[in-house]
Amino acid sequence: MARKRLDLTFPPRQSLKPVIYHLVKDYDLVPNILRAQIHPAQEGRMVLEVTGTKEDFAAGVAFLEGQGLIVNEAASDIVLDEERCVNCGLCTAVCKPDALTLDPEAQTLCFDKDKCVYCEACVIACPRRAITLTF
Ligand code: SF4
Ligand code: SF4
Repeated sequence: MARKRLDLTFPPRQSLKPVIYHLVKDYDLVPNILRAQIHPAQEGRMVLEVTGTKEDFAAGVAFLEGQGLIVNEAASDIVLDEERCVNCGLCTAVCKPDALTLDPEAQTLCFDKDKCVYCEACVIACPRRAITLTF
């Protein structure tokens, strides 16, 4: 079984197509939606973690592309460089799922990877460039 993260861009005309349903039903894939911003008749974005065999994964991606979606590989990990981090807390203000928090006593940055949805907001917010994405 393989697990990958995909960054999907939906063109406006495809924004309401039930493509995730087809990934499950027709391609035997298990999707986990990490982030989605989809509105009728507008371009939409979705970050998806997909689990399945390599063959099913390849067929599912081909299906998505055949539906007119732009499919890119999304970040697979977020790396915090503790040497660069000065524990200023700026990244915690933009981390909506609270994956990044400041320990109230030690005033040091804590990172809970299980809560991260790979939105990249912290990467942009950090003035020290202490957070990077890996693919
Ligand atoms: S990418 Fe950064 S801001 Fe976004 S959820 Fe993960 S830790 Fe928080
Ligand atoms: S914004 Fe950067 S330097 Fe500040 S706490 Fe977050 S990772 Fe550390």
